[in-house]
Amino acid sequence: MKVGVAGLGAMGSALAARLMEVGHEVSVWNRSAEKAKPLADAGAKVAASPALLAASCEAVLTILTDGKAIDEVYNGPNGLLSGDVKGKLLIEMSTVAPKVETDLAPKVRAKGASFVECPVGGSTTPARKGQLLGLMGADDADAARAQPLLEQLCRKVEHCGKVGAGSAMKLAINLPLMVAWQAYGEAFAIARSVGWDSKRLVALFNESNGGNKALNSRAEMIAKLLDGEDPGATTFSIANGLKDLRTMVTAGEALGAEMLATKATMAGFEEAVRSGEGGSDGAAMTAFWSSRKKK
Ligand code: NAP
Repeated sequence: MKVGVAGLGAMGSALAARLMEVGHEVSVWNRSAEKAKPLADAGAKVAASPALLAASCEAVLTILTDGKAIDEVYNGPNGLLSGDVKGKLLIEMSTVAPKVETDLAPKVRAKGASFVECPVGGSTTPARKGQLLGLMGADDADAARAQPLLEQLCRKVEHCGKVGAGSAMKLAINLPLMVAWQAYGEAFAIARSVGWDSKRLVALFNESNGGNKALNSRAEMIAKLLDGEDPGATTFSIANGLKDLRTMVTAGEALGAEMLATKATMAGFEEAVRSGEGGSDGAAMTAFWSSRKKK
């Protein structure tokens, strides 16, 4: 199948590589053109604009930072919807407020294309291996059309409901993870005073109910972060975590919920970004907050 990917950040690049591996004819587009080079070197075609990407593909996946990026890529002058997309399948996979997706869906449908939202759980390694958790929001017919393609990217595709339901679920499952990064920073502030080496310390948490899947899969990275060593490539940035936390607070409060832990975590992420950690992995919150002294 001719599949396009617009947005070649950490996730989009991994998804495009996965799609190539399973045999699709992949075309890509990214705002900053240099990020397309590794995929081009691996055989992907590079489109000069989202409009040209859509023109050359049967299905297009987008995975972008936020609602502003989605608006520009879909509705901009050379955007995905600027040309003839009749009969095409557009799958929007970013983590954004449900309203971003519910506002976009009718615009796509008005052009005669199918629209599916499918934000994902899991980071770059599962994306590269086709092991994500897909949280699909779509009408039944569109969901059935997207399912085979999404199953090549995800270990499980949950059809959460109509468009908007997938984004609501994605925000919800990301919330305890973001709070956990802040919590580990504070927990390690206490635990590090005992003087253990970092690997042993992270292993103890992973032996206990204080661990979680992300702490487990990033154990080596976190030990390096605690030791001040190079942790390797960022898989999910603190800046994107802050973007998600802000969206969670807005979404929760709009429903009348008290977002106490989310707001405290948001303040922690804001301070990390102010201190220049925006591009670091979310896991770096463990080192940032455990080595910081109260002001
Ligand atoms: P990233 O590495 O920061 O990449 C962001 C992408 O969005 C880049 O391609 C960037 O283009 C593009 N973009 C941003 N603003 C734009 C604009 N105004 N116009 C056009 N393109 C724009 O982020 P990521 O980690 O791949 O995440 C992408 C989305 O997936 C986010 O919504 C994130 O929350 C979600 N997500 C991430 C993970 C993860 O573990 N990384 C997991 C699940 C979901 P440039 O290269 O030109 O800046």
